[in-house]
Amino acid sequence: MVKKKQLEVELAHLRGRFEALFAHSPDLNYFIDTSGQVFEISSAAGPILRFTAEQLQQMSYLDLVYEQDRVLVEQRFASVLSGEVQRFETRLIDVDGVPIEFEILAIPVQEGGELVGAFGVARDISRRKDVERQLLASEQRYRALFDDNVDAVLTYDTEGRFVAINHATEVMMGYDADELIGQPFLPYIVPAMREYTIEQFMSVKQGDPVQYETAMFNRAGEVVDLHITVIPIMVDGEMQGIHCVGKGITKRKQLEAALNDMAYHDYLTGLPNQRSMNRHLAELMAAHLPFALYMLDLDRFKSVNDSWGHETGDLLLKSVTKRLAARIPQNARLFRYGGDEMVAVLQSAEESEVMRFAEQLQELFEESFVIKDHEVVASASIGIATFPEDGDLIDTIFRKADNAMYFAKQHGRNTHAVYRAIAREGEEQLLQLEIELRGALRAGEMSVRYQPQVNLKTGALHGIEALLRWDSPRLGPITPEDFIPIAEESGIIVELGTWVLDTACAQLADWRERGLGRLKVSVNVSIHQFYHDDFLVTLRRTLEKYAVDPTQLVLEITESIASNADLVVTQLIELKKIGVEVAIDDFGTGYSSLQYLKNYPIDYLKIDRTFLEEMETSQADRDLIATIVTLAHNLGLPTVAEGAETEAHIEFLRAHESDFAQGFYFSGPLTAAQFERWIAER
Ligand code: C2E
Ligand code: CA
Ligand code: CA
Repeated sequence: MVKKKQLEVELAHLRGRFEALFAHSPDLNYFIDTSGQVFEISSAAGPILRFTAEQLQQMSYLDLVYEQDRVLVEQRFASVLSGEVQRFETRLIDVDGVPIEFEILAIPVQEGGELVGAFGVARDISRRKDVERQLLASEQRYRALFDDNVDAVLTYDTEGRFVAINHATEVMMGYDADELIGQPFLPYIVPAMREYTIEQFMSVKQGDPVQYETAMFNRAGEVVDLHITVIPIMVDGEMQGIHCVGKGITKRKQLEAALNDMAYHDYLTGLPNQRSMNRHLAELMAAHLPFALYMLDLDRFKSVNDSWGHETGDLLLKSVTKRLAARIPQNARLFRYGGDEMVAVLQSAEESEVMRFAEQLQELFEESFVIKDHEVVASASIGIATFPEDGDLIDTIFRKADNAMYFAKQHGRNTHAVYRAIAREGEEQLLQLEIELRGALRAGEMSVRYQPQVNLKTGALHGIEALLRWDSPRLGPITPEDFIPIAEESGIIVELGTWVLDTACAQLADWRERGLGRLKVSVNVSIHQFYHDDFLVTLRRTLEKYAVDPTQLVLEITESIASNADLVVTQLIELKKIGVEVAIDDFGTGYSSLQYLKNYPIDYLKIDRTFLEEMETSQADRDLIATIVTLAHNLGLPTVAEGAETEAHIEFLRAHESDFAQGFYFSGPLTAAQFERWIAER
């Protein structure tokens, strides 16, 4: 009796616990009889499948299973009925027929030794599945980024050892992943870059992403130049490792080297060129080493070209070069300046030596040249200027040698002239010009012309370049090439430059008010203006005065300005802040390093017109244009090609994807009124 009572109490306890479990579980609890009829289904979390109790009573368990999963679930149910516990995942449907993922536990239920059905729990796992899927997707995305990346992608631990590398890394480095993993990366860096690379690594360890350029050895011992982006992997504020993306820039570096090589050498004669000469002169001047500069110009070279053809002209230049190069003394160097002009630089302060060398140069022409069975008699006129006597700027020395050379030409050719000897006459002329120039602006003799720049891809007008003109009533029109150097030397350029900027901005405002649209205007800025204290102040004031949008203005500066690194960079940053754009003018003629292109905020590269000029005859100039464009694009800079005169030029530029062009093919420099007509006609 007592025992039975005890049993009943225990049973009641059990039922209570069981019911509590049944009623409060967030999962679905069910009982299915052997026929498959659903008897009980409940969840404390509310109706998950949203069927009513009445509906459920009419249903077989299979009605709750998503159609495509039914066969599977039937098999499972059969197993349960044969006495096995089953656990599996399947999809059930809610009242709207929408499948939901569940994990099912099914336990066979026996009563009096007989199987009466299945009891179990169905747990909604759709959220977990979603997370799993997302994880998988992000893993796949990461893998795609890692495995299929064309750049090297690597992971290091915080000690700088390889943890994972992708296929591109294997290809780039020539090692298999398992050869590298676990190894420190530092020994693979070329020795010269190690210290710098460690510095970068240290700053990543502070938790900052960094970018830098370095170089590694590949398996074959070749140097692989790399642009590196390094990102620390932070988990809960702690660094777990370092991701690194390495872009191979060997090709770009080679391009740069090729450009340098091409840029410093003359293709035809193999002599170092003008750029190279400038560099040499700058070095001598910096070291205060006295020298004499010989400007050597072949007499009547044009008539050789005209009567025998370009090819013969080229061969003559080669022969002359060969003869000169063979006799040049140890303390002298020879350069091809361009066309039929050569420059010799003799390092000497001895006047007698300077004169003797001039005579030796002259004598080299006494014997005639044999070109393709023709006997060609050639001679040269030579102009000489010396450092430091004639000045302390390359331009000054050069111009003086050039003047002396012209003097020699005018005095019978096949002779030489020393600048100092002819100076008085020349200086007087220059002084006269300078006096005229000082009064020119106030006398209203100056004007500005505008030359269109065209977008080669769309054919649309890109902008215009403002070019200064001087028409002197006493001296006639004087080209900028003649008066700009004098303006620069005398300081008048600052006043002139300010006036051009003012005039161009006033013109923009006028066009805006008359509804001619928003034009971009490029203004040339001389080195003397650029370094003038008031330059930025004047610029800002002018923009405000005419309410010109700064993005409409482009300043053209020459390479020689840009190469003056420290001074220029602060100015450029200020210009960027104002919103004014900057173009490097006459690119390819200066003697600056290419480094600044990468580091400075520059917007356009203008390819000097001499490249197009000589394009037809010189493969080197064609190569150089193509290389400059590629290099510029590599650095994210659009190019403006100057001196586009012919259809052939335009075709060539299009083929090499130069972005913009300027030149007589479209139009020469125009007055504002002419330009308005030009636009209207297009
Ligand atoms: P730049 O800045 O290289 O200007 C382009 C020069 O090339 C202009 O000569 C222009 O007339 C000329 N040009 C344009 N298209 C062609 C073409 O298809 N073929 C040829 N052969 N030449 C073409 P411009 O006007 O005589 O100016 C000469 C130089 O004087 C300019 O060269 C620039 O360095 C300087 N300059 C002109 N105006 C100013 C100025 O306002 N300020 C300063 N600082 N310099 C100026
Ligand atoms: Ca220019
Ligand atoms: Ca130019």
